[in-house]
Amino acid sequence: MSAKVWLVGAGPGDPELLTLKAVKALRQAEIVLIDDLVNPAVLEHSHAARIIPVGKRGGCRSTPQAFIHRLMLRYARQGKCVVRLKGGDPCIFGRGSEEAEWLAARGIEVEIVNGITAGLAGATSCGIPLTLRGTARGVTLLTAHTQDDSALNWAALAQSGTTLVIYMGVAKLADIRAGLLAGGMPGEMPVAMIESASLPQQRECRSRLASILDDAAAFALKSPAILVIGEVVQQRATLDLAQLAHG
Ligand code: SAH
Repeated sequence: MSAKVWLVGAGPGDPELLTLKAVKALRQAEIVLIDDLVNPAVLEHSHAARIIPVGKRGGCRSTPQAFIHRLMLRYARQGKCVVRLKGGDPCIFGRGSEEAEWLAARGIEVEIVNGITAGLAGATSCGIPLTLRGTARGVTLLTAHTQDDSALNWAALAQSGTTLVIYMGVAKLADIRAGLLAGGMPGEMPVAMIESASLPQQRECRSRLASILDDAAAFALKSPAILVIGEVVQQRATLDLAQLAHG
C-alpha cells in the first residue's frame, strides 16, 4: 500500500458541514490526528485504530509542530492511511500547506481536502452575505496575529472596499480597532463578533468599530470567534426574513 496522508478540513464545528470527501477519507483512515478546534462528533465516521489529539490552541499547552510532522511521517511510512483533521479549511490559517510540503519532501503522497472555513460559516449562520453587489466588492480573510509581530497595513485594509473577516482576533481587539480607525475606517462601521460559529453554543455580538472593546467585554466574548467588519453586517434583517419564509 502506498503511504498517504490526507489533510482534511473538518469544517467550523457543525458535523453536517463536513464534505463527502472528508467523510470518505475518515472512513478509510487507520490513524486520525485531530486538532482541538475539530468537533469530535465528526469521528462517528471513523473506524481508525488510533485517534491522536494534537491540539495547538494559541496560548494553551500544545503539541509541537515538529512532533506532529514526525507522527504523520512515521505512520505513513508504515503504510497506514493517515488523516490529519483540522478545523475549518486546512489551508486557511491552518498550516496545511506547510505540512503538505514537509511530507511531500519526504516522499509521502499528500491530499488536501477542503473544509468550510469558520469565516464563511460564521457569516452565513448570522445571515451576513460577505460580498454584496454595490456594498462589498470582495472579502478579505486575515489574522491580526503575525509570527514576527510585524504591522498590518491597516490603511489599505480600511480602504479596500472589501468585507474584513478576522481570525484569532479576540485578544487583538484593541489593535484591530486602533489600526482600522487610524487607517480611515469610520467608527460606526458595523461589526459582528461570532463565537463558536455553527455550533449549538454559537453567540453573536453586534457592534460598531469604535465600540468593539466595550461590547466584547460586556458580552464576555471568548475564543474561538471571528469578526466580520463591513457594511454587509447590516444586511442581516433582510436575510432573517428569508429564513422565516423557509420556515
Ligand atoms: N483553519 C481554520 C482556522 C484556524 S485558526 C478555519 O479555516 O476555520 C483558529 C481561528 O479560527 C480561531 O481563533 C477563530 O478565529 C476561528 N474559528 C475556528 N472555528 C471557529 C468557530 N467555530 N467559530 C468562530 N471562529 C472560529
